[in-house]
Amino acid sequence: MINLSMLKPTGHLTLGNLLGALRPMAAAQVSPARSTCYYGIADLHALTVGHDPARLREVPAEMARLLLAVGLDRSTLFIQSHVPAHSELSYLLECTAHVGELNRMIQFKEKGRNRPSTRVSLFTYPALMAADILLYRPTDVPVGDDQRQHVELTRDLALRFNRSYGEVFTVPEIVTAPAGARVMDLQDPTSKMDKSRDDGGGTIYLLDPPDVVRRKVGRAVTDSEVGVGSVRPDREAKPGVTNLLDILAACGGSTEGITTYGALKAAVTDAVIAELEPIQKLYADLDPGDVSSVFASGAEVCRRATAPVLAAARTAMGLA
Ligand code: ADP
Repeated sequence: MINLSMLKPTGHLTLGNLLGALRPMAAAQVSPARSTCYYGIADLHALTVGHDPARLREVPAEMARLLLAVGLDRSTLFIQSHVPAHSELSYLLECTAHVGELNRMIQFKEKGRNRPSTRVSLFTYPALMAADILLYRPTDVPVGDDQRQHVELTRDLALRFNRSYGEVFTVPEIVTAPAGARVMDLQDPTSKMDKSRDDGGGTIYLLDPPDVVRRKVGRAVTDSEVGVGSVRPDREAKPGVTNLLDILAACGGSTEGITTYGALKAAVTDAVIAELEPIQKLYADLDPGDVSSVFASGAEVCRRATAPVLAAARTAMGLA
């Protein structure tokens, strides 16, 4: 079984990324004999919107070190642009994709269509994503709702390619990702905690020191209910409190004896700090040179694993 996940280096990793993605990614490594995990930093995808080159140098380096610090040390870790097959296959897939189908992509409609300065790469992004997937031949791809349409397009492109040029690609099945922990923004608990959004104090980053965590949790939005029974989950009426309860549970804390929002925030603060402390310690202890060599050998493994798929696609299309 192939596990494949890619994270866009659009911002610093958050508690949401940890609980919703990195933890399940680490859990998938449990049986290396039965599953191979490829985890990539999707730096090429970060170029689809206005970007700052200096930041693009820094964020993936921090992310690489953090992926090791959260325990993804039994996976093949790589940086997308270090495996040129991704962009090469992306171009071949662009040559099978139709303007009409890319125009229908909801993310493009919402984020770029009809704006003259939208980068062309945002329009063709789904072809790169299809390449990211098809190169590794996974038999199934777990997706959340926001990526379903892109993975459906991946299937359509693979099927069309196979029909037109010969059976090159494994067409993956789409499976619904198990509903993982969903961490909401502490200041705006009806929106998800998002690494790409400006930090208005509602996002906890994995490298936030304990006093910053304490301040952010202390200022988290709750509600005006007081008295016995106010500390209870109710996603509609009490999104802030529910989020704090979810975070507490996901970080292994207990609500026993907690009757006030102040006590709840103190418990959440302790649980989050305890969760982040070992990660931050490992992060500090990791040697940047060692991180680079883990990613260099990961990229080498990916180059070897993907070469036959790219070669088959080239040949099938008639390239010498
Ligand atoms: P991208 O890397 O595509 O920019 P995100 O940072 O939004 O996207 O997501 C990377 C991964 O982290 C995804 O698997 C996503 O579901 C998960 N994730 C991101 N934010 C949260 C959150 N607030 N709660 C739970 N999971 C999250």
